Amino acid sequence: MVKSTDHHAYLEVITGAMFSGKTRELHRQYSVFKSCQFNVQVFKRDIDDRYGKDEIKTHDGLIFDGKDVFISKDVNEIEKKIKKDTDVLMVDEAQFYGSEIVEKADKWINNGKIVVLTLLPTDYRGMTFGPAGDLLAKADKITQVFARCLHYENGVYCHKPATRTFRTKSDIKEVVVIGGSEMYEPRCRQHHFFNK
Ligand SMILES: [Zn+2]
Repeated sequence: MVKSTDHHAYLEVITGAMFSGKTRELHRQYSVFKSCQFNVQVFKRDIDDRYGKDEIKTHDGLIFDGKDVFISKDVNEIEKKIKKDTDVLMVDEAQFYGSEIVEKADKWINNGKIVVLTLLPTDYRGMTFGPAGDLLAKADKITQVFARCLHYENGVYCHKPATRTFRTKSDIKEVVVIGGSEMYEPRCRQHHFFNK
């Protein structure tokens, strides 16, 4: 199979609360690109405990090939690792890369790369997360994914579509605290609140 050389570059943002399946959607697109012989690089900021040595797994066990995955702590490090023949740049958790990623994404697209980002749009307080507003404004395509609200009252879960991330440990006040379901849960607008 010969891959198309005529693809057009664009910015896609995959957005949603924690536990909404952003990385799962990134992996779905990764698989499609790979099946079409596109060269893909996936950038992540940190190594996570759930990753094996030579591969990266999503929460639910989907695997990105380790040779396509590049741990990069900032956008300059991403840029240094971009290969000339790469067609698609994927960045997981783009909110952690700060405002610099907005300008860089434009540059990468101008250089012919397809850029696909996952993005947590708001922090646990419901405030816009770093570069999220600009990235959503500049996206050619926005894919929004939803979790289900886990607010529990009178013996029943809400289970409406959740667009926000609620921190269940209210004594922790820092904005960026890496955690999983022991600390965060998806909530709908009605059930998302934040006590200053
Ligand atoms: Zn709810």
